[in-house]
Amino acid sequence: MLYPQVGVLHIKNATHRHNPAPLSETCDCYTCSHFSRAYLHHLHRIGEPLGARLKSIHNLHFYQDLMRGLREAIAAGQLQDHIATLPFMAA
Ligand SMILES: [Zn+2]
Repeated sequence: MLYPQVGVLHIKNATHRHNPAPLSETCDCYTCSHFSRAYLHHLHRIGEPLGARLKSIHNLHFYQDLMRGLREAIAAGQLQDHIATLPFMAA
């Protein structure tokens, strides 16, 4: 599973087979800056370990950004407001 800032993305789904888009348009991690969903889908299909590494880079970047935003919101006393802005927190 991958976290494209707006929910969970399953790269093994065939819908990504020819998708030239990055995992996330708003992410500036190495994976999103250099590789398409189609390429990551291909790596998953052939069992290439590079795919797992690239997905981990993206997910770790996502969590670092998430934690940075939470720390800043706590320091500013705006945690509840910040949480409400997180796209994946919408019901
Ligand atoms: Zn990314």
